[in-house]
Amino acid sequence: MKITFLGTGTSQGVPVIGSTHPVCLSVDAKDKRLRVSILVEWDTYAYVVDCGPDFRQQMLRINCYKLDGIIFTHEHSDHTAGIDDIRPFYFRQGDIDIYAHKRVLKSLAKRFDYIFTDKDKYPGVPTLSTHIIKNKPFKLHGLKVIPIKGLHYKLNVFGYRFGNFAYLTDMKTVEPVEIEKIKNIKVLVINALRKEPHISHFNLEEALDFIKKVNPEKAYLTHISHLMGFHEEVQKTLPKNVFLAYDNLQISI
Ligand SMILES: [Zn+2]
Repeated sequence: MKITFLGTGTSQGVPVIGSTHPVCLSVDAKDKRLRVSILVEWDTYAYVVDCGPDFRQQMLRINCYKLDGIIFTHEHSDHTAGIDDIRPFYFRQGDIDIYAHKRVLKSLAKRFDYIFTDKDKYPGVPTLSTHIIKNKPFKLHGLKVIPIKGLHYKLNVFGYRFGNFAYLTDMKTVEPVEIEKIKNIKVLVINALRKEPHISHFNLEEALDFIKKVNPEKAYLTHISHLMGFHEEVQKTLPKNVFLAYDNLQISI
């Protein structure tokens, strides 16, 4: 299985528009973070987790030709706003499979009504094939995917375990029963916004505590704000098996 970090930034991305913060002005490519998403590839299959406003740019920069579907963590715009840009995939492949909690599908249907409607569809509008995710395992071409439920302030969000890899973002609270599902996993990705606490995201300290509880072989941090600091400097302060993810990083599991 191959994972590509398509984006590792928080909701505004890094740099933030108009910001003169030193991290936003950094020339290090690892300090340039598009909105969070990963590409998960195995056998001949390719799925993205989330489809934010940078989706088009992300697909272009990795030269992605085929996409088998999108799995959503939750409905916030930094995870969903790129949905219209699935059109090139739709034109080549036909209906695109999307997987999400029913609340998320409802929200998307409201915001992208022209895509979700059955009547008088405007020519060129993509069609989706929707699949409801509940908090129980499901299969994608034989691969078992296990949802991991967490709270993003008061909103339920899903992370996902694919084999020996788990991707959790926008988490602030995760119940022990959910942590059990990913204990001792090989590779964990978890959100860490910044050093200061935040109402709906793990800060660095909370993410490191969470990693200790899960006890993965390796952990990668994502959904990073410019306030976290320079990539190179923060990386030096992390435990040996913990890494700041950065855009275009690829890992094999
Ligand atoms: Zn987010």
